[in-house]
Amino acid sequence: MDVTSIIDSLNAAQREAVTSANAHQLVLAGAGSGKTRVLVHRIAWLMQVEGLSPYQILAVTFTNKASREMRERISDLIGFAPQGMWVGTFHGLAHRLLKMHWRDAGLPEGFQILDADDQLRVVKRVYTALNMDAEKWPPRQAQWYINEQKDEGLRAAHIQQSPDPFSVAMLQIYRGYEEACQRGGLVDFGELLLRAHELWLNKPELLAHYQDRFQHILVDEFQDTNSIQYAWLRVLAGNKLGMTAVGDDDQSIYGWRGAKIENIQNYTHDFETVSTVRLEQNYRSTATILKAANGVISQNANRLGKVLWTDGEEGEKLSLYAGFNEQDEARFIGERIQDWIAKGNMRSDVAILYRSNAQSRILEEALLRLQIPYRIYGGHRFYERLEIKNALAYLRLLMNRHDDAAFERVINTPTRGIGDKTVQRLRDTARAANQSMWAAAESEVENLPARASNAVRGFLAMVAELAEDYQSLTLDGLTDQVLEASGLLEFYRREKGERGQTRVENLEELINACRAYEAPDPDTPALPQFIDEAVLDAGERQAESDEDAIQLMTLHSAKGLEFPLVFMAGMEENLFPHKMSLEESGRLEEERRLCYVGITRAMEKLYLTFAETRRLYGKESFNRVSRFILDIPSDVLEEVRLSANVSRPTSFVKKATLSDDGEGSGLGLGQQVKHKIFGEGVILSFEGSGPNGRVQVNFANEGTKWMVLQYAKLQPA
Ligand code: ATP
Ligand code: MG
Repeated sequence: MDVTSIIDSLNAAQREAVTSANAHQLVLAGAGSGKTRVLVHRIAWLMQVEGLSPYQILAVTFTNKASREMRERISDLIGFAPQGMWVGTFHGLAHRLLKMHWRDAGLPEGFQILDADDQLRVVKRVYTALNMDAEKWPPRQAQWYINEQKDEGLRAAHIQQSPDPFSVAMLQIYRGYEEACQRGGLVDFGELLLRAHELWLNKPELLAHYQDRFQHILVDEFQDTNSIQYAWLRVLAGNKLGMTAVGDDDQSIYGWRGAKIENIQNYTHDFETVSTVRLEQNYRSTATILKAANGVISQNANRLGKVLWTDGEEGEKLSLYAGFNEQDEARFIGERIQDWIAKGNMRSDVAILYRSNAQSRILEEALLRLQIPYRIYGGHRFYERLEIKNALAYLRLLMNRHDDAAFERVINTPTRGIGDKTVQRLRDTARAANQSMWAAAESEVENLPARASNAVRGFLAMVAELAEDYQSLTLDGLTDQVLEASGLLEFYRREKGERGQTRVENLEELINACRAYEAPDPDTPALPQFIDEAVLDAGERQAESDEDAIQLMTLHSAKGLEFPLVFMAGMEENLFPHKMSLEESGRLEEERRLCYVGITRAMEKLYLTFAETRRLYGKESFNRVSRFILDIPSDVLEEVRLSANVSRPTSFVKKATLSDDGEGSGLGLGQQVKHKIFGEGVILSFEGSGPNGRVQVNFANEGTKWMVLQYAKLQPA
């Protein structure tokens, strides 16, 4: 046992948190101050000094990747793998509990996890069953409603019926949805948490068992727990277990999904004598990056207030690049990365962060062109792809014939002559007899019109035959067989062009994934474990492969991570802060926290880029530079200008002063001007001043347009 190795790499405050004898602790600290490091070291401390066994420790992380990293870091520190320790996400841990105690949780043994997409399908089926008007209340809205209730721990039965038609409809759908899920053994993400919480409440002896087992709970990213997660922790801890929670109110970025910053305060009230430790030294970023981050976050009100300093290097200034359009922006990023690699740096040290998933495609294209290997991290990529979901649905059906979501997904994929009418008939039969669609198909097959009957019979036989192989084949062998026998692979092979090609490649990649899969529990069949992980893990898996690659991810999925070189792309109003955040109170502050999270991922160098015109979601838009850029102290920010012929009236960082008549722009009303894309036109009016000043131009070929003056780059014609 080597105690010094656990604490000698810690500063005084970190050491206090790691070695504390207090049962309950809150570590409240800014980004990069060593919160996660404290958790890892505290776990080692609890084992090596307090004598806890791994078995007595429960650690909650925010992603599956973070759990794996935490395990590794603990092993490194204590010199052996912490067998039996529970480390996982809230969802992962809840899933594990429900798997072990399915009967107590009121679930069938082989219950299936529904991802967001599958969930929407079930909601839509409920609409049909209840004759609901999908025009009036879109199913997505109902899905949102259901998830919101679950995050708050509310079942349909708990909800007070209010008289307005919306509430009446939503509640009715929620009820129908609960029934459909119960019937099909389907569990959505919110349900995992809700059931795990109910398990504690309804089965006191089970709760007592776990309270005896676990001695200490550790929670990372505590600021992003929602009500039901907090309730789950609180019941489990009771007044028996110790708890160490670490978090940063400035990094709370999941309010839109029900996370409650208030849980930080609740914790200190609801638990007995919680000691609070603050960490103030940042070890991650240069002083310059830190100054930029502080500049942005200081614009938020209602902060718990923390100081963050570093004795590290000053570092390089942040670079800001205004791309002419999104292609130019992506090209710029790609080239900077090339420079970085040419200097002998690792690709994996680079991250490109963006606000919306849809931004990735252009960036990906630029990287492909420059032959820079990249990986998309998080964001439900691989396992969310259509062809993969179809393949997984076949596998699910093999395990459980009564999985209606899977049945519906594949009954006519690839097309085998089973039309909507037939499917509807099976659906009706299933509903009337309160049975699964599989059972309905079996009983109804002889009564169908000849063609449909044959097709359905063929489908049933095929699945039954594949199911016979289920036990004897390896996971990859089985998947291979399923892809061939179902005709799925052939179907995508025939799909023309690149898309079909990609799909086939993805399916092949699925077989690779199956081959490489190591089931956590080697004593039970691998398939169900694989499927559950595929759904839970969604896309995180990709980041594990060995090739050195650039990482692309949304700002949300970057939480907790760090990279020497970071690009934040799309720093534009409406994109970031996101358009939607401007309409709802509180959301803008959350966007600003997200920006703070982004900036504080960077260790050495940060690039901020935006596009003066952007084509996104099929529309061209002219956006102003993000307000967050304007919050960065100008002495730590420098603008990159690539070529001399890019002329700019004034730097927006210095806040150009344009008056209503366009003063300072060198342009006047009625003047003939030329625009790079729109050609020639006449200035009709000016509006506003400063960096946001706009100009209205009537173009000969394009009609009248409003543009931000400083980005429009109008030249006298
Ligand atoms: P975030 O808020 O982004 O999750 P965090 O507070 O969890 O950040 P860590 O990721 O634990 O911070 O630490 C940030 C970086 O600083 C890591 O590289 C970590 O190894 C390093 N670090 C933390 N404390 C120390 C220390 N006392 N000495 C040296 N390096 C440290
Ligand atoms: Mg952390």
